[in-house]
Amino acid sequence: MLLNKELIDEKIRIAIENSKKYIGKGEVPSYIPELLNVDRDNFAFCLVGTTGDIFTYGDDEIVFSLQSISKILTLILALSDTTPAYLYSKVGSEPTSYEFNSLIPIGDKAANPFINAGAITTSSMILGSDNEEKFDRILGLFRSMSEFEGTKMDEGIYTSEIATADRNKAIAYYLKSKGIFDQNPDEVLDLYIKACSIGTNIEGLAMMGAVLANKGIGIKTREMIVPENIVQIVVSQMASCGMYENSGAYLMNVGIPSKSGVSGAIVGVVPEVCSLAVYSPRLDKTGNSVRGKGLFKIISQDLGLNIFV
Ligand code: GLU
Repeated sequence: MLLNKELIDEKIRIAIENSKKYIGKGEVPSYIPELLNVDRDNFAFCLVGTTGDIFTYGDDEIVFSLQSISKILTLILALSDTTPAYLYSKVGSEPTSYEFNSLIPIGDKAANPFINAGAITTSSMILGSDNEEKFDRILGLFRSMSEFEGTKMDEGIYTSEIATADRNKAIAYYLKSKGIFDQNPDEVLDLYIKACSIGTNIEGLAMMGAVLANKGIGIKTREMIVPENIVQIVVSQMASCGMYENSGAYLMNVGIPSKSGVSGAIVGVVPEVCSLAVYSPRLDKTGNSVRGKGLFKIISQDLGLNIFV
C-alpha cells in the first residue's frame, strides 16, 4: 500500500460513500435480546497502519461488544497457556459449513477455534485461580492490544446473553461429556460469554488488529504483546475460519484474513501493512455484517490490500 495519507483518506471516503448502497440490508440478531437495542444503521470504520497512522470515520464514539471477535483473545491466551499441539488435540483447525453455534460439527472436537464450540474449548484452557482472574487476563490482553481506555465488560450484553444461552450451554455440556475439558461447563461458558461482552470503540478494534498485522508488537508502545508464532496461527485461522460458513467465499472476494462478530463488527489483518475495522450491525444470514463485508471488499480493491494479488 504505497499511498500517501491524503490519497488513502480520499479513497476510504469514496469507498464509504459507495458502501451506502448496503444501508438497510440485513437484520440484527434477536437471540441476544440486548443486541436489538442498537441503532441498526450505526456505522464506523477505522484503518490503522503498522506505522501508527490512524484513519477513523463515522460514529467513532460508539462502544459495541466484541462478540465472536473475542475468540481471537481466547485463542491467543489458550495458545500461550498450553501448546499448539495440545490445543489442536482438543479443537480442529478446519473451516465448517455449519453455522457458528451449531452442535452438528462438533463430532469428537469442535471444527475450529472460531466457532462457539471451539472458543468454549479454548476458554477452558485459560489459566487462572478463578473466573475473575481468567477474565482479567482476557480483558488485560484486549486492553494492551487495543490501547482503548474504556475497556470493560458490557454488563447489559453479558446479562442478556447469559440469560438466553441455552444453545451455548448445550455445547459446553456436550464438550465436557466428550472429555474435551473437565471443568464445570457453566463456569467455562460464563468466561466465554464475558469475553464476548467486552466493549470497544472502532479505533480500539482496529488497534487490536494492527498488533496482529505488526507481528504481535504494540503499535504505540512498540513492545511485544503476542509472540510471533501465535500471531501466525491466529491470522491463518482468521483467513480460513474467521467469517463463519462464509469464510471461503469471503477470502476469495476480499482477500483479507478477518474475524467477525454478531454485534456487526469485523476486524481484518493485512500482515505488515495495516488492520481494518468496521461496525455496522445489520447481518446477513451467515452472521456477518452486510455493509461491513461490502465495504471491506471495496477498500481491499481500492487500496490494494488483497493479500493474494
Ligand atoms: N456471544 C455470541 C454467541 O455465543 C457470539 C457469536 C458470534 O459473534 O458469532 O452466540
